[in-house]
Amino acid sequence: MTTPQILGLKKSFGFGDRLGLATPGHLAAVRQFPDFAPIFAQQSIREMTRTRRSPADVMTAAQTALEKVGYLGIWGADADHLKTPEDVERVAAAGFCFFTIDPSAGVDNHADHMDEAGLRAAVERLEAEGLFADFSWRDYYLDRVFSVGHGIVLQFDEETILRAIVKYSRATAIAATLGESIVRCSAGRPYEIEVSVDETDAPTTPLEHLFFALELKRRGIENLVSLAPRFIGEFEKGIDYRGDLVRFEAQLRLHVAVAKFAGPYKISVHSGSDKFTAYPVIGRVCGRHLHVKTAGTSYLEALRVVARTKPDLFAEIAAYCRGRFDTDKASYHISTTSQDIAALPAFQGPEEEAIYLNETAGRQLLHVTFGSVLTQGIAANGRPFRDALLECLVQESDLHAEFLSNHFIKHLSRLNAG
Ligand SMILES: [Zn+2]
Repeated sequence: MTTPQILGLKKSFGFGDRLGLATPGHLAAVRQFPDFAPIFAQQSIREMTRTRRSPADVMTAAQTALEKVGYLGIWGADADHLKTPEDVERVAAAGFCFFTIDPSAGVDNHADHMDEAGLRAAVERLEAEGLFADFSWRDYYLDRVFSVGHGIVLQFDEETILRAIVKYSRATAIAATLGESIVRCSAGRPYEIEVSVDETDAPTTPLEHLFFALELKRRGIENLVSLAPRFIGEFEKGIDYRGDLVRFEAQLRLHVAVAKFAGPYKISVHSGSDKFTAYPVIGRVCGRHLHVKTAGTSYLEALRVVARTKPDLFAEIAAYCRGRFDTDKASYHISTTSQDIAALPAFQGPEEEAIYLNETAGRQLLHVTFGSVLTQGIAANGRPFRDALLECLVQESDLHAEFLSNHFIKHLSRLNAG
């Protein structure tokens, strides 16, 4: 059986596959872009819960598809957004070797709004708690100039370092604990680590990134191959980047410089699906130091197969999703509103395909409801949507692979277009 490997600092692309049938299409696309190392098994614990899949299910789906075509190249397996030592144990047991630590529970988002006195008091509490052991952050970070390359010089003033400490110190300690679990659970097998803080309230500044990365290093995290900051602008699920690309590029340059200085490691772009206008910038600025994660966009291509070949089934799913939207959107950061969804015409056939699968409101509707569709939704004939959907994809496997392949060729070529 083909097994995943560590990819190290090779430029890489993550193909999340919630239904377990997308690997043939993903492979067809990435074969045309040998400069990207593919990750064919990639799912967060949260998504596994939402789709009722186990880490072993996710792994087996990728392995079976790769085995079937005799794929001999390297590929990675990313256990995304791990939050607890139990998460680590489960995914390591299934053979995952790329571990994405998500210590965001330890990020103190209030730090952004605290004044200097408040920050000082908060740092004293952290010190009293022993969070730094005998480490003198004052000596290490203050009055020091960090020349991170390309003529870029970063320096902390007192307030900036206090804020970074309050915001991120607990998160780095959590990351270190999870890092220890990874070492233990990997039991001598090769492993690599990403740390993600992409789901914070405010964008990660380059100085915060520098502090965070240096703290990870100081706390002994090894084999860090990528780090996911939160970028400026909006990386909403399933749609293009929203924001000022000039500012985005300027800040990304600083993040890449920090990644090379404090690592080197790759910049990881989460919610990477469909960020077509930002891709040329991302590809150009990150160069080889790039990892991109996608997931929901493949699910939407699967639904496109259904819309095209089983329009009645798609119409039922779409109507169901409209009923679920208000509930299911709660855990997502999206701009589509209930009013936008109410204004959508009902799906009746090819005329409405673009509305549901190409335009923002339709895509976000289908995106946020995937868990409900796959675990609760039932068609009028009594059949779970999940079963009907999977059957359709098996029957239409060529079309499914073609849609996915075209879609990811578009992703990968835009990343190389800068
Ligand atoms: Zn993420």
